[in-house]
Amino acid sequence: MSELETDSKLPEEVLRLQGLRKSYHTGTPLEVEILHGLELKLSRGELAALVGPSGSGKSTLLNVIGLLDSATSGELFLLGEATSTMDDEARTRARNEAIGFVFQFHHLISAFTVLENALMPLMIRSGKPTKTQTEHALGLLRAVGLHDFAHKKTNLISGGQQQRVAIVRALVTEPALLLADEPTGNLDTQTAAEVFELFRRFNKEIGCAVLAVTHDPRLSESCDRTISLVDGRIISDQMRETVA
Ligand code: ADP
Ligand code: MG
Repeated sequence: MSELETDSKLPEEVLRLQGLRKSYHTGTPLEVEILHGLELKLSRGELAALVGPSGSGKSTLLNVIGLLDSATSGELFLLGEATSTMDDEARTRARNEAIGFVFQFHHLISAFTVLENALMPLMIRSGKPTKTQTEHALGLLRAVGLHDFAHKKTNLISGGQQQRVAIVRALVTEPALLLADEPTGNLDTQTAAEVFELFRRFNKEIGCAVLAVTHDPRLSESCDRTISLVDGRIISDQMRETVA
């Protein structure tokens, strides 16, 4: 059996936004609304691209969905649970348990090895990782071709390899939702395609929903669904017929 088994415990609906609004206070009494009442549903196993011009609110939306920032109004359901009424502790728990993040820059800690970086979310959660958790992380590293680098410091590997470590780190907690903000923006075309392929693979094998911001049309076209955000509104949301 593969270590990348689909977790049948994951519910069908991973994320639902209901009239979600986000404003920023810009230091003046004025509030600037960035996200204008978004409706969105993301199901288990979906691989969705989030596209849109710079400044349209994509990162703001990902930060709100990832519970790194809170909405101004509206509701965000994560695994069927309303998040607006959660206190800080419950939000942190929900974030740690349900969500994995990959950013444009990998933010790996160069003083630590590949394996230690991959295990970081588990170490933050509960201290020393168990043998099973370590083996799981090693299995994921093997799946992305980095098993042999597990005990190397992360500054000794290439940019594409570092981003793959960041993906493993995001997946090590087996999140229901993987959020990626321009995860390949810093990579050359070939490496970007390879890294993006990992999203598709883990999305299929683990069954997590993936929402990935990308500017590269070839990458968004390889997703099941493309959501376009312009000026803080979803102007189109297209499912793609996937070839079996
Ligand atoms: P994108 O990721 O699509 O490029 P962002 O979500 O980063 O867009 O930004 C959307 C808008 O929100 C921009 O006009 C940006 O200037 C503004 N913005 C982002 N973060 C903040 C903040 N912390 N405070 C005030 N305005 C912000
Ligand atoms: Mg952005």
